[in-house]
Amino acid sequence: MYFVEKSVTLDMKQVLMDGVQEMVFVVAVREDAAFVYDFINRAAFEKTHLDETALGKTFQENHSKRTAEFLEEQYRNVLATGESYVYEDSYTSPAGHQHFSESRLTPLFDEAGSCTHVVGVVKDITEEKLAKVEGKEAREWLEESRSRYRSLFHHNADAIFTLDLQGEIVGSNAAAEDLTGFKLDELMGTDLVGYISPGDADRTWHCFRRSIKEILEDCRINVMHQSGEEIGCLIKFSPIEVHQEIVGVYAILKDMRELDKMISKFGESEKRFRIIAENIHDVIVLMSDTGKYLYVSPSSEEIYGYKNTELMNKPPYHNTHDKDKSLLKENFWNAIESRQPKKMQLRIRHKTKGWIWSEVIWSPVFDEQKHFSYMVTIARDISLQKEYEEQLEYFAYHDSLTGLPNRRFFENRLAERFALLHETGETFALMVLDIDNFKDINDRYGHETGDGIIQEFGSRLREVVGERDIAARLGGDEFIVLLSEVETEELAAASGEKFRQAFKAPWHVNEETLRVTSSMGIAIARPTSSFSSLTRVADQAMYASKKDGRDCYRIASDE
Ligand code: GH3
Ligand code: MG
Repeated sequence: MYFVEKSVTLDMKQVLMDGVQEMVFVVAVREDAAFVYDFINRAAFEKTHLDETALGKTFQENHSKRTAEFLEEQYRNVLATGESYVYEDSYTSPAGHQHFSESRLTPLFDEAGSCTHVVGVVKDITEEKLAKVEGKEAREWLEESRSRYRSLFHHNADAIFTLDLQGEIVGSNAAAEDLTGFKLDELMGTDLVGYISPGDADRTWHCFRRSIKEILEDCRINVMHQSGEEIGCLIKFSPIEVHQEIVGVYAILKDMRELDKMISKFGESEKRFRIIAENIHDVIVLMSDTGKYLYVSPSSEEIYGYKNTELMNKPPYHNTHDKDKSLLKENFWNAIESRQPKKMQLRIRHKTKGWIWSEVIWSPVFDEQKHFSYMVTIARDISLQKEYEEQLEYFAYHDSLTGLPNRRFFENRLAERFALLHETGETFALMVLDIDNFKDINDRYGHETGDGIIQEFGSRLREVVGERDIAARLGGDEFIVLLSEVETEELAAASGEKFRQAFKAPWHVNEETLRVTSSMGIAIARPTSSFSSLTRVADQAMYASKKDGRDCYRIASDE
């Protein structure tokens, strides 16, 4: 027999209890309009002063008057509009820490359309808030440093050379001596371009020539210090006019090292803050190219059960599934080579709870020289999403009423059997079943009992089919079975009789006892059979049974 056995219902309560890191409150709306706690998840018990005794009690009974009134006001908002509502708040944890939270309240309605419950999901946004505050501080610090730098600039920190029209140095200030490492008398009469890194020399010369034509521009170049050190500078040429005639050029070189450092520092911190702020509930890991952990966010404990300090000392990939490892390494290097973020789904082991389906995004970060410096890895728990996807897939191939495979699933398997038949000649039979006078059952006992009969029909089919058989519901009161080992009329007859007997026992559904029979048509596949010819012949045999008085089977051979 072939069918997929799988629990299709998610235990929502358990999911809310253990699987959700956000606080969840289900609050019932009492007839006197008071709000009563109906369900509180573990995260909420841990993060607030509420415990089990809060259940069944009102806001007024659980909180201070001020807090209760505040909560009532928010929850009433949802009742008034019938729509979900988000508000921000702060609270103090039992440990005395200040937390910021974002609460989403969603109404639940009964069939009559009145709101019976409000579900509150409270997300802790403390770290997000702090990251924003820290980001602001970093920006302010940068601004301040910039203006400090600017004043330094105005006080002649820049190297200034006086050049003739051929670009020879005819004068300079003290900063120019510092920048090049040469004394003024050594500089005099030499070409400025000679102090510029060879790779930048042509560009500098070009810039100089254009300045004589009064086309002024800044140019980023490196100066070669006497020591061999290359110093990043911004060079600007400014023509010297005497009596409306250009007699020389000032070259002003601004040492960019400090600013470059600051910009790269800020750039990096801004990037980091952004990533953290956006993904605060995810686990963030900075990794070196050898896979060594440079940083692990504290959320690792919440999501994977490992303290971040504990993870820092573990070898790389120690908690990833063997089956995902090679693709994981491939993606890691791919991200570095392509300089693009890479994403994959993989299993990461929780310290105690087993494998957790996770989505991981690798974003490589490069330094100024465009060398890889580290990998920002963001991992998030997608196990709920995965489970949901699996359920969707399950429903795509199964009938929701009976849990049996549906037509699509059946046709896929049947196609496989045809391939086998044409390849090896291994034959089989198809049995179509249609419940007799099902409309009468619906009419007499109601649709619900009708559904119950269909479910019971499915169960009986499941019990009677053989291990290599496949039973499916085609729709309505019509079912189909692939009989794997039925190759002759005798075997087909034995099967038909076996199924008929399986329906004989009284049917107890919805406190009713009924008699239910079905008409069956069996078609034996032959090497020349096709998908459509075989199903047509089986259908015809089933109709023949109906015509012959129902509660029987007819056998046809698809010759
Ligand atoms: P026959 O012996 O000729 O098969 O007569 P019948 O009354 O069973 O007629 P038929 O098979 O053509 O009709 C099946 C009926 O089943 C039609 C529809 O009203 C009903 N039906 C279809 N799907 C469902 C369902 O999911 N639940 C219930 N309760 N009834 C259904
Ligand atoms: Mg019928």
